[in-house]
Amino acid sequence: MQELASPNDMRAWSRTERGRGRRMSFVPTMGFLHEGHLRLVDRAREVADRVVMSIFVNPLQFGPREDFGSYPRDLARDRQLATERGVDCLFVPSGEAMYPTDPVVRVLGGPMADTLEGAARPGHFTGVLTVVAKLLHLVEPDVAVFGRKDFQQAMLVRRMAADLDFPCDIEIAPTVRELDGLALSSRNVYLKGDDRRAALALSRALRAVEQTWRGGEADPRALERRGLDVLAAPGVTPEYLALVDAQLHPVARVDAKTIVVVAAKVGGTRLIDNVILGEGIANDVSVRTAGKD
Ligand code: AMP
Repeated sequence: MQELASPNDMRAWSRTERGRGRRMSFVPTMGFLHEGHLRLVDRAREVADRVVMSIFVNPLQFGPREDFGSYPRDLARDRQLATERGVDCLFVPSGEAMYPTDPVVRVLGGPMADTLEGAARPGHFTGVLTVVAKLLHLVEPDVAVFGRKDFQQAMLVRRMAADLDFPCDIEIAPTVRELDGLALSSRNVYLKGDDRRAALALSRALRAVEQTWRGGEADPRALERRGLDVLAAPGVTPEYLALVDAQLHPVARVDAKTIVVVAAKVGGTRLIDNVILGEGIANDVSVRTAGKD
């Protein structure tokens, strides 16, 4: 596996590979890799000849009171996992290399970026879209693969690529969960003891909404109340649970395409999750991770 830190080297490597006729795919991450990230690599390998993964904890997408400084990092372990999974090129730029000066021009997601996660984390999606735009310009992939776990992010990236004519397909891969339902996240490492159990409230709330809908309830407010009841478990501070469409608008009528999005704090850790009602949590990917279950 090639490892590059310089943006110019990244672009040169990518152009050389494309010049040889290779189809390129790209998996952007903030590292501390888990099986959710690695499934994106599997998908990226299926659709291209060369897979680039980036690891960059992007300061622009963290609020002043968020966990940028303490975000989990382990490059040696990430390097090994990426190599084993068949990543061809690992791009690990420094903050200075990505932002030699504070960027004046940034990508705004508009109203779609101001709701839900954007309302809870002002400026978050501006940071995400700006760094994804920069990374797509440096890597120039044919396809970039994102996880549905971060549903609003995936929708915004897809919209950015369409609205700003990025010559790149945006693939969205299913959420990967622990066997007990907890969606994998680098931040799960913060969950100790009771918090790990309490964190199941998110996937339980999604499942409760799904089951109630399958039982015939179609009123979004009734479904939302059902979800919030389950979410309000001991040790959990609910932030939102909403039934939305792919543009993140609240739905007036619930159908199989409706997405239930949820956010809550467990201890000091903010967690998010979602389900597409018609697909259901059962159709997500479940894995047994080391030391769990
Ligand atoms: P992150 O390192 O958290 O920025 O995530 C990098 C990419 O991995 C994003 O596209 C995420 O949506 C995706 N991802 C994170 N967790 C999961 C998961 N449990 N299942 C699927 N994709 C995930």
